Amino acid sequence: MENEKPEHHVLIFPFPAQGHVNSMLKLAELLSLSGLRITFLNIHRIHHKLILHTDIQFRFSRFPNFQFQTITDGLSADNRPIGKFSDLINRLKSVTKPLLMQMLVSGQLGPTPTCIILDGLFNFIIDVDAEPKIPVFSFRTISACSFWAYSFVPKLIEDGQLPIKGEEDMDRIVDGMAGMENILRCRDLPSFCRLEDPFDPTLQYSVTQTRKSFKAHALIFNTFEDLEGSVLSHLRRRCSNVYAIGPLHAHLKSRLSGEESPPALESYNSLWEVDRSCLTWLDAQPSKSVIYVSFGSVVVMGDDQFREFWHGLVDSGKRFLWLVRSNLVAGKDGENEVPTELEEGTKERGCMVGWAPQVEVLAHEAIGGFLTHSGWNSTLEGMVAGVPMICWPQFADQQTNSRYVSEVWRIGLDMKDVCDRETVAKMVNDVMENRRNELMGSVIETAKLAMTSVEEGGSSYCDLERMIDDIQLLCQRQREAID
Ligand code: UDP
Repeated sequence: MENEKPEHHVLIFPFPAQGHVNSMLKLAELLSLSGLRITFLNIHRIHHKLILHTDIQFRFSRFPNFQFQTITDGLSADNRPIGKFSDLINRLKSVTKPLLMQMLVSGQLGPTPTCIILDGLFNFIIDVDAEPKIPVFSFRTISACSFWAYSFVPKLIEDGQLPIKGEEDMDRIVDGMAGMENILRCRDLPSFCRLEDPFDPTLQYSVTQTRKSFKAHALIFNTFEDLEGSVLSHLRRRCSNVYAIGPLHAHLKSRLSGEESPPALESYNSLWEVDRSCLTWLDAQPSKSVIYVSFGSVVVMGDDQFREFWHGLVDSGKRFLWLVRSNLVAGKDGENEVPTELEEGTKERGCMVGWAPQVEVLAHEAIGGFLTHSGWNSTLEGMVAGVPMICWPQFADQQTNSRYVSEVWRIGLDMKDVCDRETVAKMVNDVMENRRNELMGSVIETAKLAMTSVEEGGSSYCDLERMIDDIQLLCQRQREAID
């Protein structure tokens, strides 16, 4: 490897979770379209699932400069369950990190990468803040506003605003967060701010990875200027290279439509088998009559919460399509008895599937609303589809996303920290009917702005071009340093 002549080569490494792999694969496809040489490094067990449930091998085979590589996190493909988040982090530190170093030194990944696009959730894998030889672009797969909120946690602890002082403190407006004045209450801060101990390892982990992201050569966000311009400008004061290149799924679609033979179907990067039968069910429903319900790939709810949602959906009298993942409900032992009214209400107006083709579902004519956990990918997908949302955030960035959805962008309602059938039924009726007109103006406008940002000349389009130019320039400099 010593005297090799550097050539463009980008190594992309996502955190092993659905939302992260999904958006980073979209970025990999976008960069491949520009002709850059790409290595997509994936954890074995995640890659195994992608091979099983998607067409990624076929889809990426059209790029001669693209390769998949895999690395272990110490678990085999059939190891279940994955365990606690802290166990996963420990394995990534003790098993994956040294292996990655070895792979980079041995040249197993191909020519030395020009840069590494690393998921900012595990910046420790490369020691981003220790001036690594290969420049690291930290890709945060969350919203810019939630990342900005993460960055204030040490200050909030110092100011005595954290920890939160019990339930009665939850509606207090948080002070001193530049760019977010009068927006966030304690309950809208990232979920780990609810921990009583400010030195809790989960909270401190987040603080450390956020700090490290600012030390990276560049920061990448799956967002767009017209949505988060104000927060992005604050971020640019702390990091000179910030690229806002989203919504990535719309960006990819827009660039692919300019290709000679664009793919016929939406490209999914699913770790579960996609059940397309719900599209046939949707075809038979009237326009804008169905609320789509999905809590993403990670959220787990109690059986009591599941029942409240189910009753609420049936009681709303509206049609619903509900994604009920096999591991959505915790401790569900066998088939608990289902009350007749739920069974009948679902038969009449509902459809449940294990994993849906979400982007197509949201774009379907029959969909009139989206009850979501406010994961960032889902939020962007709902936004682009022009569907008003009901937010039931559970962890990490979701609490902040849902606040922005309801109070800043005004494209949905926030159902945070409540889970009873009356509220569910009321919110469904609000979004589908009673408050629909009030929301639809900003919903349509935001969808338009999102699409414009990824079209030629739009802010995300230009930021991606700038990022590609910067990668090429980096490579040129590396060449000059050797000559
Ligand atoms: N998704 C999907 N089908 C489903 C549910 C989810 O394709 O039935 C996709 C969804 O489109 C999104 C991703 O899974 O791209 C979930 O990511 P998000 O950031 O919304 O939430 P997370 O799963 O990380 O909590």
